[in-house]
Amino acid sequence: NKITIAIDGYSSTGKSTIAKQIAKTLDYIYVDSGAMYRAVTLYAIENGLITENNFYKEALISQLNNIELSFQFNKNLGYAEVYLNGQNVEHKIRTLQVSGFVSTIAAVPEVRQKLVVIQKKIGEDKGVVMDGRDIGTVVFPNAELKIFMTASAEKRAKRRYDELKQRGDDITYEAVLKNVTERDYIDTNREDSPLVKAEDAIEIDNSNLTLDEQFNKVLSLVKL
Ligand code: C5P
Repeated sequence: NKITIAIDGYSSTGKSTIAKQIAKTLDYIYVDSGAMYRAVTLYAIENGLITENNFYKEALISQLNNIELSFQFNKNLGYAEVYLNGQNVEHKIRTLQVSGFVSTIAAVPEVRQKLVVIQKKIGEDKGVVMDGRDIGTVVFPNAELKIFMTASAEKRAKRRYDELKQRGDDITYEAVLKNVTERDYIDTNREDSPLVKAEDAIEIDNSNLTLDEQFNKVLSLVKL
């Protein structure tokens, strides 16, 4: 008897780490909805639709039909990687440059509509763990389990900084903290489905929890 699990929360709260672990344990599918917004952002950057000074929103909207997103399961990683028009973009979408523009792109209602349709379709079969910002509120309002993860901005920035350093990105902690704070601001203040805790979501502040503690806590909430 499989269920749908929605994990939402602020940037870099470790949602995807826990979501992946839970999916693996339950033999569920893990879907990273943020990766889809990031892939659309990468498309916008590569096609000159967004720069430091300009955002050609109407052009992006008119080109949305040219953007094909898909997921392909990677056996070695144990989860599905995102593909943009047939190209694996899993690595490219994690740069601080993409992170810097993604919340602006994600605030465009037409972009959200397109991605929410894909996400709902993936969730038609139960046995899905999806993480994002509007999964419990918009994508799966009927999810059997909704988690809302929080942590202090400093903790979140430190974790993301360590992650990016580890893959060799040339960044500073200050730049990451600024990005995390800015994204939270845009995500919570946008007009179309802003980031908000679903009424029936269970909040977990993981500032002082180990990964094991978080994992066990979420797993204990799964009632099949
Ligand atoms: O989860 P991640 O941090 O990779 O998401 C990147 C950005 O995509 C978020 O900061 C947010 O602007 C947007 N997003 C969203 N709705 C989702 C998932 C991500 O608006 N369901």
